[in-house]
Amino acid sequence: MNIILLGAPGSGKGTQAAKLVDYFDLAHIATGDMLRAAVAGQTPLGIEAKKYMDAGDLVPDLVVIGMIGERLAAMGAARGFILDGFPRTAAQAIALDEQLAELQRGLDAAVAIELDPEIIVKRMSSRRFCPLCGRTTTATEGDACATCDGDLVIRDDDKEEVVRNRLTVYAENTAPLIDYYRGKGILRTIKGDQPVDAVYYDLLAAIGQ
Ligand code: AMP
Repeated sequence: MNIILLGAPGSGKGTQAAKLVDYFDLAHIATGDMLRAAVAGQTPLGIEAKKYMDAGDLVPDLVVIGMIGERLAAMGAARGFILDGFPRTAAQAIALDEQLAELQRGLDAAVAIELDPEIIVKRMSSRRFCPLCGRTTTATEGDACATCDGDLVIRDDDKEEVVRNRLTVYAENTAPLIDYYRGKGILRTIKGDQPVDAVYYDLLAAIGQ
């Protein structure tokens, strides 16, 4: 099973992807996580990407396409994947089609999680991140990570003005991909304004499980 999760930042893609990969043993390929790891490791790619990420802008296509190409090529052919946060532009979607054709793999579904932008702004202001283990959680967890006891922080790109920019970037660059996958006949949409388990239930139904 090879799936793309589409949706604005803060729509719950990461949470839902984590549940799916646990259940189906899929590879969770999240470009945001890969880029944050590169930033933390201060690799040349991370240093280049950081300035875009801090402003809520997209990292240039060539950088992200190269990164995903390596990741997909390194994957065992038998294992399915879930793409979370990629593609985000038309150029990335076209490059992905080419990379998958080369690897003789197809896409089963592109699932778009729909959510009102104002709910997203509220959600993201209560989002917390553990730099130690990379886990995302909410402010209700307190100051310490329940998994590794690291200090929870607000990601720079979860601050309100940056979130608003990310939503504009999403509307301009990424939302048009919904039509791209509709045209391929693999688009499914689900409502994100529900409890996590209800969204997950709809997601399973959307992918025929
Ligand atoms: P995310 O955790 O998916 O919300 O991504 C965090 C940030 O990483 C985004 O705001 C972008 O700056 C960058 N990023 C993640 N995925 C991509 C992508 N596919 N294309 C360009 N930039 C990306």
